[in-house]
Amino acid sequence: MNDASKKPVRTRIAPSPTGFLHLGTARTALYSWAYARHHGGQFVLRIEDTDVARSTQDSVDQILASMKWLGLDYDEGPVYQMQRLARYQEVIDQMITAGTAYRCYCTPEELEAMKAAQDARGQKRRYDGTWRPEPGKSLPAVPEGVKPVVRFKNPIDGDVTWDDVVKGPITINNREIDDLIIQRTDGVPTYNFAVVVDDWDMAITHVFRGDEHINNTPWQINIFNALGAPLPAFGHLPIILGDDGLKLSKRRGAVSVTAYEENGYLPEGMLNYLARLGWSHGDDELFSREQMVSWFDGTHLSKSPAQWDPAKLEWVNSHYIKLADSARLAALVREQLKRRGVAVDASAEQFEAMCALFKDRCVTTVALADWLGMYFGPVAPSAEDAATHLTDAIRPALASLADGLASLAAWNKAEIQTVLKSTLGAHGLKMPQLAMPVRVAVCGRAQTPSLDAVLELFAKEIVVERLRSA
Ligand code: GLU
Repeated sequence: MNDASKKPVRTRIAPSPTGFLHLGTARTALYSWAYARHHGGQFVLRIEDTDVARSTQDSVDQILASMKWLGLDYDEGPVYQMQRLARYQEVIDQMITAGTAYRCYCTPEELEAMKAAQDARGQKRRYDGTWRPEPGKSLPAVPEGVKPVVRFKNPIDGDVTWDDVVKGPITINNREIDDLIIQRTDGVPTYNFAVVVDDWDMAITHVFRGDEHINNTPWQINIFNALGAPLPAFGHLPIILGDDGLKLSKRRGAVSVTAYEENGYLPEGMLNYLARLGWSHGDDELFSREQMVSWFDGTHLSKSPAQWDPAKLEWVNSHYIKLADSARLAALVREQLKRRGVAVDASAEQFEAMCALFKDRCVTTVALADWLGMYFGPVAPSAEDAATHLTDAIRPALASLADGLASLAAWNKAEIQTVLKSTLGAHGLKMPQLAMPVRVAVCGRAQTPSLDAVLELFAKEIVVERLRSA
């Protein structure tokens, strides 16, 4: 039984700063955040940086930036484990005194030999209890010059059982697990110990995390019990599979939140997509964060692996691109163009109009930047489009269109439309016969929204120049 149900809900996300915020961790953060918000509780951010060799400040910065981008606001933190070493030491000392932890002086060589002997006997590898104190047992003499680790004295018999919020009841027998190292020779605690002290000190009531941690949970529960600390509820979320059915990993595409931000996704699109990746609310596919908070009560979480689906993410994101107001999109697209070294030479109003004209056909702000680039730099039609549409037969019509447009006093859709029509008449053409070549010459591609609307947003001189040099 856990004691979580009686207390104000407190959840946490505890990333290790050994890389960017992974999509799986972002989903866990979202669920933890939504669960806390749903219950009017609190959400804590903890940075698990005890793997000193692999933790970097750069990763911390990226994680904080991604949390901010996603809008997953936390009520406490970031709490850094490496700033809590004195507290861990205090708990270790108490446990040694209480007899629930002990120093182990086995050298790495001895541990290797232990493993080799167990392998040779076909036994499961586990610590053999050399330094484990037992009533009536005499321990070896403490060797000179060997720094000890501290091990948790795990119960030998009995089961550890918890009712997982996601997976339902899980039972693991204590014979399956051994006396875990909780403090290394350098005094730094290991994950399974630090996580318990932190979850206890931070009064965490619900722990959501990836199901790769299921095997750690029995140790943690035993440590909670040894400390007389109340147990949180645990919810282990299934892994996310790539479209090849294997675990989503860096080798098979973008796995960091940062990459999706850079690739032009909107945070609300990302959150909506991540929310559905392992959780459902009826048939709802598109919903706001407020709706998610009001619905997310820890039920309807999927037990089976989630499938990463880039096409669905695009669909969800395009919905939010359509909803986004043009000023916000404009700022994001400006940023994308800046990265490409493209300077936006347009008024704010004009640039927003460009975003508004193209946003319905774009899944990301990168796609929007792909479109809008034509307004600010040269275009290069494909050889195929050029050969099909920019023929000698059409050039005279393009030239007279250029002349007609050049002589316009006012530059707007209606005026442009008038010149287009008179050019059709003069050259005996139908609209598509002229519009396609104009698109290829001016926009560098044969498909665009309505031609007059597209042309209106160009500087007149650019249109005339591109038509003349087609
Ligand atoms: N630092 C661990 C991880 O990133 C946290 C696991 C947990 O939430 O307990 O996997």
